[in-house]
Amino acid sequence: MSRIVYVNGEYLPEGDAKVSIFDRGFVMADGVYEVVSVLDGKLIDFPGHQARLNRSLDALEIGQPMTDDAYLEMFRALVEKNRINDGLIYLQVTRGNPGDRDFAYPPKDTPQTVVAFTQSKPGLAENPAVKTGWRVITLPDQRWDRRDIKTVQLLYPSMAKMAAKAQGADDAWLVEDGKVTEGTSNNAYIVKGNSIVTRELSNDILHGITRAAVLRLAREAQLQVEERGFTPEEAAQADEAFVTSASAFVMPVVEIDGAKIGSGAPGKIAERLREIYLDEMRKTAL
Ligand code: PMP
Repeated sequence: MSRIVYVNGEYLPEGDAKVSIFDRGFVMADGVYEVVSVLDGKLIDFPGHQARLNRSLDALEIGQPMTDDAYLEMFRALVEKNRINDGLIYLQVTRGNPGDRDFAYPPKDTPQTVVAFTQSKPGLAENPAVKTGWRVITLPDQRWDRRDIKTVQLLYPSMAKMAAKAQGADDAWLVEDGKVTEGTSNNAYIVKGNSIVTRELSNDILHGITRAAVLRLAREAQLQVEERGFTPEEAAQADEAFVTSASAFVMPVVEIDGAKIGSGAPGKIAERLREIYLDEMRKTAL
């Protein structure tokens, strides 16, 4: 069945949805995006993603094409039109179509391009990989310096994901100045004793919406949280490791560069945080 997608105010069959070849997103990667998960037909942590979208748009001075309420209405319409029970909604906002290519930004009144589409993922929160955990490799972090902006500039993360797969791993943890920044499309954590360690917020990592919720819930559950960088060697010696993102929720990591982490099986704290997170998020879903 063809999907119904959203393009600049219209709901169209995916085959009829078109964007100009001069669109700044296409020509310059001059756009931002968000991914919101859907469980039981409801949007998970929509306000968190909404806030980051606004932050990314402000950081690039793209301007705000729609009100917060209009996004919510549009997301709900896409869920309904595509009968999504479990899945994902991708939203892309670009600086629009100036009608030609130029490094300079187009005039401020150039309408932004807004595109959104759904992906149906039945059983999104029942991923069988949770039982076995992911294996990761490390790679130098060669992404740009403003990783806090959720831009569509995803070439290096995509190359790193392919390199991980070529080595039989599930993902790569990116390393800069000897310390892990984050995964290719997720935030990275290790657990030692009762303490969860994850890199502090800065321009070096994307401020994960799942990260914010998981750290809040971990503190509420009396777990210790240390926001600091850690090395791949420290990760190899940890009791547990995991990643978080809007599509993987909390996913255990069991191996790094071929070395087992802890027992080599998904850890208890990751398992508990996943449960707490999904419980809380289903309760607050919109
Ligand atoms: N870091 C990067 C580089 C990402 O691409 C993502 C996923 N979009 C995340 C972290 C996790 O962010 P979130 O929890 O908001 O999905």
